Amino acid sequence: MFQGKTVGVIVPAAGTGSRMGGVPAKQFLDLNGKSILLRTLEHFQRSDVIDLVVVIAGESEMDATRGIVSTYGLSKVVTVTRGGVERQDSVWNGLQLITKHTVDIVMIHDAVRPFISQDLIESVIAAAVKHGAAVPAVSPKDTIKLTNGELFVQSTLERNHLWIIQTPQAFQFPLLRQAFEKAQAENFYGTDDASLVERLGKKVKIVPGSYDNIKITTPEDLELAELIAKRI
Ligand code: C5P
Repeated sequence: MFQGKTVGVIVPAAGTGSRMGGVPAKQFLDLNGKSILLRTLEHFQRSDVIDLVVVIAGESEMDATRGIVSTYGLSKVVTVTRGGVERQDSVWNGLQLITKHTVDIVMIHDAVRPFISQDLIESVIAAAVKHGAAVPAVSPKDTIKLTNGELFVQSTLERNHLWIIQTPQAFQFPLLRQAFEKAQAENFYGTDDASLVERLGKKVKIVPGSYDNIKITTPEDLELAELIAKRI
């Protein structure tokens, strides 16, 4: 609980990991002796403010995922359920299930981002309690340009206003449910969960994220992750 509010986490872990080369799915890859998924789930298990966790797994990985949950005593994981075609469909499946529990705040976190901290979890939740929706972010170190369809620069974006958005993202549950219901009904797919809330015209608060909080997507990311795992 956080300030008397029940917090549930949805961890989408049903990606196929095609950009990593497929089997096993990237969340099961070993990172210095521990799988990526286990590393991620342990942060929520350890947290004083998280009450329950729903994990979304691929059809062929349900048993392996349940195995990790039972072997490592991840008692906060109340359900492991099936994913959908897109990440958003997977989160939607998790939202249906989390409705069965009384939660005030829902946090959504990619299984393939194992380098989060307790401070980050708490600061995102605190901002969601205050503002309705909150996401962690870091500023880009590179210049970002907008192009036309033929790879000519259209404009250079003002870097001070740009943010690289990460997870965990947190939301007041009724707001998130409304955002997902609208998106699913209109067949709108966003590249993150907060974008669905933005479509309702609601504000999303940015809180400081971390450059260590990488999303492990490609083999290069895995090499970088091994270095980060050694350091923190
Ligand atoms: O594919 P991407 O890197 O954006 O995946 C981010 C997270 O969403 C990963 O943890 C992945 O397992 C999950 N995902 C999912 N269902 C999908 C696609 C991705 O749960 N259909």
